[in-house]
Amino acid sequence: MATSTSEAVAVEGREPWDVERIREDFPVLRQTVHGKPLVYLDNAATAQKPLAVIDAERNFYLRDNANVHRGVHALSERATRAYEEVRTKVQRLLNAREAREIVFVRGTTEAINLVAATYGRKNVQAGDEILISAMEHHSNIVPWQMLCEEKGARLRVAPINDRGELMLDEYEKLLGSRVKLVAVTHVSNVLGTINPLPEIVALAHQRGIPVLVDGAQAAPHLKVDVQQIDCDFYAFSSHKVFGPTGIGALYGKARLLEAMPPYQGGGDMISSVTFEKTLYNVIPYKFEAGTPNIAATIGLGAAIDYLERIGLERIARQERELLVYATESLSRIPGLRIIGTAREKAAVISFVMDGIHPHDIGTVLDQEGVAIRTGHHCAQPLMEWFGIPATARASFAFYNTQEEVETLVRSIEKVKEIFQ
Ligand code: PMP
Repeated sequence: MATSTSEAVAVEGREPWDVERIREDFPVLRQTVHGKPLVYLDNAATAQKPLAVIDAERNFYLRDNANVHRGVHALSERATRAYEEVRTKVQRLLNAREAREIVFVRGTTEAINLVAATYGRKNVQAGDEILISAMEHHSNIVPWQMLCEEKGARLRVAPINDRGELMLDEYEKLLGSRVKLVAVTHVSNVLGTINPLPEIVALAHQRGIPVLVDGAQAAPHLKVDVQQIDCDFYAFSSHKVFGPTGIGALYGKARLLEAMPPYQGGGDMISSVTFEKTLYNVIPYKFEAGTPNIAATIGLGAAIDYLERIGLERIARQERELLVYATESLSRIPGLRIIGTAREKAAVISFVMDGIHPHDIGTVLDQEGVAIRTGHHCAQPLMEWFGIPATARASFAFYNTQEEVETLVRSIEKVKEIFQ
């Protein structure tokens, strides 16, 4: 069986929070960088993996490796069962109604491209509109731009206020009769803003417009419930939820997925092929052409188990404490300005400093062992919106500590000593 023999010691749901015990599950955190203990605050780019995930992938290759959905032999059956079990785990993670509403893809980017290339191509015509928000990641901008270009449709952008919150009244005004789809992020990777999805979706649905949600930054931090949100599509990436790279999932309401043409042609997505005509498989397989990333999928399953053992509500609570502490600490630094001060925020803090380029901040912090991200964060239009070329961004996970926040603050003081 594709079970894990991990020695991982994650804090179980009801035990007191013990971050040091949690950190033992993440061997990568136990290292020094430039002679200083690593402080990993680049979790929004990719999260670290617990031993349970690493072991699950390894054990799959050690014991169960075979292709899925194809063989009658024991290993193939085992691999298929393990692979399909993960679909059920993703269903549970998102609270989807049915497992067949979960399509495995490479990640959020591919999920959005899939919807643009299938639902979009089928339903968007010249003169139609796709409505996104001003805080979208390039992955939730460019596929729609490509579609609009192909079809002669128009991309519209719902504005945000100075805090980095979506302006709901402006958004509502843009929901005209030409809008064929709303594509919006759940949590901004730059601002940390948590968007009020139930309202966003309800306003679109009142006009019969479906909504795609980019969940790349929400799935690691929040308990997601696609039935409660009532979105039509939801995308996330495994590597941001402490699972392997190269795998992710698209949730789509069964009725919509069924009506969509396939994305790619090949093995597994067919029910029969002749040179004259191909009949497509049922959902979700219709969208899963070719051998998938089986081992990574098994790893994603282990990541979901791990997160559920700790509890996503608990994770959200711990991260909120870190966010409050870090926000208060950074706000006290003269000349530092936080970009993104939404009332509902996930543990992501973007900031700029008077007279100091974000890349210089990142370089000095790296020398202190502190890993943050600097740049435009694949959100160039958002940078333009705020009138800045780049930010420095510290993004937190549940394995981060208050001491690490203090190291971040001390390191930023060093940046000031060097550059001011
Ligand atoms: N959307 C958001 C909000 C993101 O933060 C990211 C990753 N930075 C993506 C989409 C793209 O995710 P991936 O690269 O895993 O496809």
